[in-house]
Amino acid sequence: MKRVYNFSAGPAMLPEAAILKAAEQMLDWQGSGMSVMEMSHRDKEFMSIAAQAEADLRELMAIPANYKVLFLQGGASAQFAMVPINLLRGKTRADYINTGMWSKKAIEEAKRFCTVNVAASSEAGGFKTVPAQQDWKLDPQAAYVHYTPNETIGGVEFPFIPDTGAVPLVADLSSTILSRPIDVSRFGVIYAGAQKNIGPAGLTVVIVRDDLVGQVLPNMPVMFDYKIHVDNESMYNTPPTYAWYLAGLVFEYLKGQGGLKKMAEINQRKAAKLYAAIDGSSFYSNPVDKSCRSWMNVPFTLANAELDGAFLSGAKKAGLVTLKGHRSVGGMRASIYNAMPEAGVDALVAYMKDFEKTNG
Ligand SMILES: *Cc1c(COP(=O)(O)O)cnc(C)c1O
Repeated sequence: MKRVYNFSAGPAMLPEAAILKAAEQMLDWQGSGMSVMEMSHRDKEFMSIAAQAEADLRELMAIPANYKVLFLQGGASAQFAMVPINLLRGKTRADYINTGMWSKKAIEEAKRFCTVNVAASSEAGGFKTVPAQQDWKLDPQAAYVHYTPNETIGGVEFPFIPDTGAVPLVADLSSTILSRPIDVSRFGVIYAGAQKNIGPAGLTVVIVRDDLVGQVLPNMPVMFDYKIHVDNESMYNTPPTYAWYLAGLVFEYLKGQGGLKKMAEINQRKAAKLYAAIDGSSFYSNPVDKSCRSWMNVPFTLANAELDGAFLSGAKKAGLVTLKGHRSVGGMRASIYNAMPEAGVDALVAYMKDFEKTNG
């Protein structure tokens, strides 16, 4: 068996320990005689798996008691709609910050439900930075402020949590959740598709402050109401049981590693090594302003784009895969979430130096 270093933006690598534990428990979860895949979500075995996963996530992120944690489906993309549907609460306007492709998708979806005020945008400069908070033109009538703390495609990350006063702050944390500690109490809603830094695809984690639940727009599908999921502990219908279980194994693994403070140290070091390799050479470059470079997604280009194919095929031979950049950006992108070992980043840096030596 050969494992590669997989730099995919998502679905992405998972901690090997979590996959191994799932393999060990594949046919018989703790003497139940069945796989977790085969369990009813109403059985006490699965209920205990689900409860443990939530408890571990609460502990890892220090989620305050007045926040609900939901394990849903539909991806972050469904949250682009569920956020306005649940958070408008009688208002008709919402603020959005535009820092890249995912912000734009959230904005387009919100426009179906309300008037969107793009309070700040870094689009004119090509999304290489994030707009400073003092330049934001927030709408006093806005029901909430939505932003994307980490733009997975552009590799742009907010170095601060915006201050929106009493107006609920909503964050699409899909590609940076669990990468470091964050103060959950600063947010009204946090949501994340699991397939980047939580677990397998098919699960979406939503963390919502309890006073924001229960004021859904009229005539919406029941599945789009946070309250139905809160009232039923994310089991109104069949939840993504196996993805929930695997997310739980990842949470358990992260706790064993020393929690999010420890992950932050490792992630920062991994990112610093990769950016140092890029900045230390005239062959590679990253366009993002140094103050807002992502720890998780590192896009970079080669001085000569005609060498992209050779770079990628050589990388593959060296066991470094899925480095091709997003089709909208070109070049390369290395996603280095929690599960990417530091040795994987070291191997990539060594390969980059080697490739430059022979092709630069
Ligand atoms: C991947 C991603 C999404 C889309 O997630 P889905 O779960 O595929 O809907 C949205 N926002 C961000 C920041 C992402 O990285």
